Amino acid sequence: MSKVQGLKKQFTERDVNRMRNLIQGKHGEKVGQGVGYSKSEKHYKEGDVWEADGRKWTIKDGIKQNITKLDAAKKAHMMPIFCPSCGSKMHVDIDKAYYNLHKKCLNCVVKFEHELRKAGLYEAYEARIINSDIDGFINDIKSYIESQLTISNNSYITEQGDVEKWVGGPNIEKVYEGLAKTIEHLESLKK
Ligand SMILES: [Zn+2]
Repeated sequence: MSKVQGLKKQFTERDVNRMRNLIQGKHGEKVGQGVGYSKSEKHYKEGDVWEADGRKWTIKDGIKQNITKLDAAKKAHMMPIFCPSCGSKMHVDIDKAYYNLHKKCLNCVVKFEHELRKAGLYEAYEARIINSDIDGFINDIKSYIESQLTISNNSYITEQGDVEKWVGGPNIEKVYEGLAKTIEHLESLKK
């Protein structure tokens, strides 16, 4: 067998098509069908943004991601420059934790809690804060698990534009079982 023939044997038709697309600059062009993927599946490349199932998706570092959720999560933890309550400048190191929970600066929280103590309402307030902390934690865990499952159960799209399915992903039933137990435990910590 000649060297050329040997090389030819090593390449499938799909590889040849992919190389042709690469040479012609059609990087995102569909060149083959990934295992277990229907023909109707659209192919997207790095940085593309599209909507499917009522959500916005993108491909970052080769991984399909739900950017709607990421953006919302980011926004929820963004702190404005000035305290919405008193208007003074906020400091990331001091006020961030207070802003996340109370939507105001540390000074405002201290003042507010002082007023509550005077009014004899502090105990009830503290219980509510702890409970809402737990609720927030439960929500964080839920969305983390959900996003991990979304990534694990969807396909990678390679640089060549091929769709490649994850193999050996997590046992979803077991994951949800564990999640339910964790939530149950957290709920029991409420005041
Ligand atoms: Zn303030």
